[in-house]
Amino acid sequence: MSDVLHEVLSANSDYSSSFGDKATLAMPPKRRIAILTCMDARLDPVKFAGLEEGDAHVIRNAGGRASDDAIRSLIMSHKLLGTNEWFVIHHTDCGMLTFTTEIMGDLLSGSLKTASVDETGWHDSNAGGGTSDGNYINWLTISDNAKSVVEDVERIRSNAMVPLDIPIYGYIYDCKTGELVEIPAATAAGKAS
Ligand code: ZN
Repeated sequence: MSDVLHEVLSANSDYSSSFGDKATLAMPPKRRIAILTCMDARLDPVKFAGLEEGDAHVIRNAGGRASDDAIRSLIMSHKLLGTNEWFVIHHTDCGMLTFTTEIMGDLLSGSLKTASVDETGWHDSNAGGGTSDGNYINWLTISDNAKSVVEDVERIRSNAMVPLDIPIYGYIYDCKTGELVEIPAATAAGKAS
């Protein structure tokens, strides 16, 4: 067993041994909110938004982008489980700001090994065994953080399956301070009506 696997299972054993009344939690999020945010390891929505088990839906992907699959989850979050206020939260220093779809395709063509990054950009070991498949994917990279929050809120807002009375708030989480900074243009785009 790998060290990390052992650590995870050990931590889970501790967690489940004091699970208590969480066994009786209902499936619908108690606070009726859904948060779409980045998978970045520095962001913990449970902590930065003051959540507990059972409180909210948290949908995460690279960049916190409003991909088709993120929208699929949001629509089910409301339609089946009753959330009625949504947040789109991107963050400072996001990895998605550091490359383009074309660069990702090139890196995957070089090899499947983890790439490295320095002040001149991303580099692949070009060790071989790569694939051109990455050239056929839109990696939903970000060139301007605030703009991408607005775009994602607009994309969700304009989906015909999203009720107009759900407000969608747009924020950027500051990795240096832990603060959520509103993007007023995004929140305006996501205003309920
Ligand atoms: Zn990120």
